[in-house]
Amino acid sequence: MQIVLVDASRVTLKLMTKMLHDNGHEVAAFGDGTDALAHLHSGAEVDVLMTSFEIPGISGLQLCWEARLIANAGRPLYVIAMSSNTDIGHLVEALDSGADDFVSKPPALPELYARLRAAERMNQAQRELVRLATRDFLTGLFNRRAFFFKAEELIRNRVPASVLLLDIDYFKHVNDTYGHDGGDLALIAVAKAISAYAGRAARVGGEEFAILLPEISEADAYEEAERLRFDIANTAVMLPGNQEISITISIGVAERDPDDNVDEWVKRSDVALYAAKTGGRNRSVMAEDVMAPDAPSAGLARSGGGRGKRAPDPLA
Ligand code: GH3
Ligand code: MG
Ligand code: MG
Repeated sequence: MQIVLVDASRVTLKLMTKMLHDNGHEVAAFGDGTDALAHLHSGAEVDVLMTSFEIPGISGLQLCWEARLIANAGRPLYVIAMSSNTDIGHLVEALDSGADDFVSKPPALPELYARLRAAERMNQAQRELVRLATRDFLTGLFNRRAFFFKAEELIRNRVPASVLLLDIDYFKHVNDTYGHDGGDLALIAVAKAISAYAGRAARVGGEEFAILLPEISEADAYEEAERLRFDIANTAVMLPGNQEISITISIGVAERDPDDNVDEWVKRSDVALYAAKTGGRNRSVMAEDVMAPDAPSAGLARSGGGRGKRAPDPLA
């Protein structure tokens, strides 16, 4: 594991670093709490924080607390407080400050290694929970919840971005003709086709997918959408028994207006997607082409009528 070790004493740091290396861990050692916290915030991979109470910079307890906030944001991080004072009040204070565990200093080797094995089990369980909460089971892409989280993150950080909303054309027909399992294979094929956008692509509904494109204008996003649409239309989906089918998708493209919240942004991509469907399917449409006041199809979605068989807002 990657362990951040914090102690005021160089001798302790050296001794414990050796103990941890001998157990197969990587160690980043710090003599100052502020430096250790900066390392945690830098995005460096860290599995365990081991910190003493009395350290220069921020206190060990405050460091425990800051690490807890990082861990609560979905990043597994196990926190072990260390002290030569094994007074019960001290231990309670450490646990209440966000530590997962407490070891006396210097720790006995077998105890230290056993506590690190416990840390590994906990981190593994937390990683699995995060995976289950954020991933779509069938395709392994992000799920709808994670998609909205990522989109909101872009908005919070004021990153200009566009979104592509993809929907498989006549998917009911695929299911009806080739069965639900055949439909699932088509979904997996689309997921594979958009896997190049790993970390930014999601399955947001039954046969609907979304891709976030940071720093990409609507016109450039449209070009990407067209490439993707072409790729998918030209890639055979293999079904059992060496049967090959082809599918097409429609795509709505929307760049976020600076004032858009996530719902408004995604809603505009959905209006564009609807225009792509009513325009004949197997095409991409930009929101600015359907939402401009004088655009012929403006108001399609807003009127609420004539939306064919699409639900009013599949992402609402
Ligand atoms: P359109 O071109 O207008 O998009 O038509 P469509 O038939 O694709 O539209 P619709 O959205 O009505 O159909 C979606 C279908 O997707 C209905 C539902 O049974 C199917 N579906 C939803 N989730 C899954 C899934 O996980 N696996 C499979 N095989 N089918 C699914
Ligand atoms: Mg569809
Ligand atoms: Mg649909």
